[in-house]
Amino acid sequence: MSAADKATPNADKRDGTFKGLRVTNTLTRTKEDFVPISDANVRMYVCGPTVYDFAHIGNARPVIVFDVLFRLLNHLYGGENVTYARNITDVDDKINARALRDHPDLPLNEAIAKVTERTANQFHVDIARLGCLEPTHEPRATGHIGGMIAMIDTLIAKGNAYVASGEVLFDTTSMPAYGGLSKRNLDEQKAGARIAVEAHKKNPADFVLWKLSSDEEPGWDSPWGRGRPGWHIECSVMSEHHLGKVFDIHGGGLDLIFPHHENEIAQSCCANGTKKMSNYWMHNGFLQVEGRKMSKSEGNFFTIHELLDDETFGGRKWPGEVLRLAMLMTHYREPIDFSKKRLEEAERLLSKWPAPIETDAAPSEAILEALTDDLNTVAAIQVLHQLAAEAAQNPEMLGVYSASAALLGVQPVKADTSELDTSSIDARVSERLEQLKAKNWAEADRIRDELAAEGILLKDGKDAETGERVTTWEVKR
Ligand code: AMP
Ligand code: ZN
Repeated sequence: MSAADKATPNADKRDGTFKGLRVTNTLTRTKEDFVPISDANVRMYVCGPTVYDFAHIGNARPVIVFDVLFRLLNHLYGGENVTYARNITDVDDKINARALRDHPDLPLNEAIAKVTERTANQFHVDIARLGCLEPTHEPRATGHIGGMIAMIDTLIAKGNAYVASGEVLFDTTSMPAYGGLSKRNLDEQKAGARIAVEAHKKNPADFVLWKLSSDEEPGWDSPWGRGRPGWHIECSVMSEHHLGKVFDIHGGGLDLIFPHHENEIAQSCCANGTKKMSNYWMHNGFLQVEGRKMSKSEGNFFTIHELLDDETFGGRKWPGEVLRLAMLMTHYREPIDFSKKRLEEAERLLSKWPAPIETDAAPSEAILEALTDDLNTVAAIQVLHQLAAEAAQNPEMLGVYSASAALLGVQPVKADTSELDTSSIDARVSERLEQLKAKNWAEADRIRDELAAEGILLKDGKDAETGERVTTWEVKR
């Protein structure tokens, strides 16, 4: 690594663009001040799903974590100055296999389209219910094949790639800085020999940019024959298309550091002649379920859809708001154990929080302090809990509380009018009126707060004829 590479990317932060956000950068393994290349154009890319099957709750983690970061960047820099791209990988051998299995009677291209459309649609439904905003751009790999062919062509022309046995491969020895993100060097990789040595590869670590397709497999015409791209090249091309050759933040789960992100860096930097692809690389830790690695064979594999709509996890359905808060109750870099106990704890917290209001108020300083400290959502939830308690006592605090909750994207579970126990509400409203008559103010307030926590707002008034106090209620949305 050269001295220039080691220099922190934010050495020039005195230009006033540092807004207090610090993030742990996988490139340096340290917490750094976040300084965007331009604070009028803050750019983030996150690797999205491969759409062959419904997303599992582990896949939800990067989506939720980087949604919080997106919200925070929007707040710090202004939404119009932030661009967030998250791709959909819709060309992959797992997709082909699923299409053959599920739609054996259809031509493969139609079968593939069915699988990818259904899976991508479900993904959108699932993550919307987890409270995630839509990214600015959501490119699909199949929409960028031309760009991939062009980048591969450039890599061959520059001596970074070669053709062998119907594949185009990236020559990892052509890039001295290869391994800089994952801190692996090629000698270690050779010694480790965990990558199967294939005869046509010049080096064991070389990876596929393009491979030929059989007549049955999906393929696109290219200078190297009808074929399809490797996975890594997709993200290099889609990120450049939407964010440029060098951008600010690249995110994803820890498992992507090697080889996926390492290879994205190799392709982008070599093709574009840049030292960096992204200045900051952020990775979320892994999620396990009830203390064990999630796997189908262990019987602890859960899709987002199952958690939301089936009664397979803990014998009940879980609201999206609960799943989201439960996810944020652990710092994004730590491993997280998704358990029934955790979900119940999240639900208990949410049940105590008032419904947020539409507001122009600013979020609290304390919540900004927590989130700008490498997205400390654990501390942020504590702050929010405190604000919720204050807001329940003092309606003037509802604005600050609501703006703070919006940064985390969390809100209490909405009351569903069709499932409301109206007789219980009416009974408690009458009970409160009795308590008020008896001047038991504290008990009357307790009932009002209890209802508020359930999303029921009371309106006190006077009967025009009798002058007696009457109370109506409505569901706060
Ligand atoms: P995949 O579809 O496997 O490429 O994963 C999509 C995203 O989900 C990537 O950012 C992965 O790192 C992330 N991911 C997959 N499994 C888990 C898990 N168990 N915990 C946290 N993140 C995960
Ligand atoms: Zn990617």
